[in-house]
Amino acid sequence: MGAADPDVHGAVHSWDLSTGVDGPGTRFVAFLAGCPLRCLYCHSPDTWTTRSGDWTTVAELMARIEGFQRFIEVAGGGVTLSGGEPLLQPRFTSAVLRRCKDAGLHTALDTSGSLGDRADDDLLTATDLVLLDIKSWDPALYRRLTGGTLPPTLRFARRLAGRGVPMWIRFVVVPGLTDAVSNVDGVARFVAELSTVEKVDVLPYHRLGQRKYAGLGLPFPLPTTAPPDAETMARVCDQFAAQGLRVTGV
Ligand code: SF4
Repeated sequence: MGAADPDVHGAVHSWDLSTGVDGPGTRFVAFLAGCPLRCLYCHSPDTWTTRSGDWTTVAELMARIEGFQRFIEVAGGGVTLSGGEPLLQPRFTSAVLRRCKDAGLHTALDTSGSLGDRADDDLLTATDLVLLDIKSWDPALYRRLTGGTLPPTLRFARRLAGRGVPMWIRFVVVPGLTDAVSNVDGVARFVAELSTVEKVDVLPYHRLGQRKYAGLGLPFPLPTTAPPDAETMARVCDQFAAQGLRVTGV
């Protein structure tokens, strides 16, 4: 059975259309279920387990995507696989990306990179853009923040640059956790070394997922943390820009 077999199944949590944030243009975004991390600032705890998704074949998801293909193309967009963590289901992710690419659609992969080793070369060949979350530079903080380890993400980033895969880097500013000058500087210096980074999205922590935690009967992990103020956001953006990077922030 080949990687692009239409019968490969994946757990798909939901899908949506979005403009500007999940890659260029208007995009069909499929949120795959399951994630190995447990980020303290996660706003989608409802996607953490594969049980939260519906088992869907590649052919079924493609049929849905193709229903929007004309609209997506006119809007200069494409398809983004997000989550959860799409690399938790690498066969399904690879097959969908390949089918989209063969259909002439721009493809993007939204990932933390923590399972980057599971992305084989075929998957990366079918990927036009990677939206890569680098959540912290300090390894101990990364562990505390996510429950995972930092090196796989850095390894994946270097591999993408080596293969010429364009990247948009995402960095979430969480007051008291990720916003320290030295932490931001570490990420910014690392990213500046990656030749295929097109831009850095600096995103503010927000509490919009709070209700989802309540609905799942889970404690909200950062009950006393407020979103960053404008001054902090501007300082973090400036730190990335100082490394010669194109930055978008709010
Ligand atoms: S990687 Fe994303 S989906 Fe997974 S826990 Fe972190 S923020 Fe949530």
